Amino acid sequence: MESLLIKDNPRLLPMNRERTIYDGFITVQEQDFRLRILLPPDGQIKRAKLHCCWQLKHLLRGYEAIVKQRLQQSSHLGSFLLELKTVLEVCVQSRPSPLSIPRPQSYSDLLSELETLGWDKLVFIDTDFRTLRLRADDSSGREHVLTVHLKTKHPAEAPECAADVPVPLVFHWTPQTSLAQLHAQFLQLLESLTEFWEVLDEIDQKTWVLEPEKPSRSDTMRRIAIGNNASINVEVDPRHPKMLPECCLLGAEHVVTPLRNKLNANMHLWNPECSVLSNLGDVLEIQFPSPATHHKSDLSVECGICYSFRLDSGIPDQVCNDPRCGQPFHQDCLYQWLRALPSTRQSFNVIFGECPYCSKPITVKMAAQK
Ligand code: ZN
Ligand code: ZN
Repeated sequence: MESLLIKDNPRLLPMNRERTIYDGFITVQEQDFRLRILLPPDGQIKRAKLHCCWQLKHLLRGYEAIVKQRLQQSSHLGSFLLELKTVLEVCVQSRPSPLSIPRPQSYSDLLSELETLGWDKLVFIDTDFRTLRLRADDSSGREHVLTVHLKTKHPAEAPECAADVPVPLVFHWTPQTSLAQLHAQFLQLLESLTEFWEVLDEIDQKTWVLEPEKPSRSDTMRRIAIGNNASINVEVDPRHPKMLPECCLLGAEHVVTPLRNKLNANMHLWNPECSVLSNLGDVLEIQFPSPATHHKSDLSVECGICYSFRLDSGIPDQVCNDPRCGQPFHQDCLYQWLRALPSTRQSFNVIFGECPYCSKPITVKMAAQK
């Protein structure tokens, strides 16, 4: 038994004459692990104490119960160590191997691809060489960025791409597709969207846009101030940007109703050769207030209850319909205000009450449950 122990574990040696202390290394799959074993004076393996190095402890995490069980069942140290090494073999094999590190080959491939594309196009690359941001300028000089997340584990799979555009990013991809080809496809997509951005850039420059606060290149909606606490929501189709967009007028009834009638009556005048903004002006027979003619504070009137304009990213969208009042409110503010008053009635999800400013009847829908 003793000879077997030494033969199997030549580097684990007895430290005293009684042979109750062993110290040294055991070898599993060509790796050495430091181990110290303390046996009780009677040499009973069941009551042995094991002191493992941290690598061994780390490896045996989750297997402690099995090791204890093997210790109980073994008749002598030699057979226990055989069992321990079997357990360790399983541990070593199930340990995650560093497969996710890309092969050196793909680094040099990537470098030569970037060389072809042009280093000036590279805005960012992460330390793993997996996420790249590539710059692309469209023919009108707008700067765009394409984020490419390479699947280094599965190089044959298409990389994940993201960009601030209003349409889904669909690229033609084969494992042979280079970064330069991907970039060229992105440029093509950008060119197909330049008319859409021209339409929106004109609106952003020549009107007061109430929402979104800071439009991104993928935002298709604009809420444009008309004046008199009224505004128009315009949803531009990225694929047909000069067609009549989806429109929704917001504001007091006495302001909005005449505009809505004009929109319906003049719709046939819409000329797809002209810009959306000039068409909207013609159809509604209005001049949009612009940064040249108005201050934004004249148009973005604050809520009559909380005295702020933006509340949880919402802007006042409820208006008193009395022509002499026209006070705007946030939906939530008005709902909370009216709900607290005894004179308020409720029917289904609509609250009927009095305007906090002019005491004329006002209604508000209950805000959707958050
Ligand atoms: Zn408010
Ligand atoms: Zn009022």
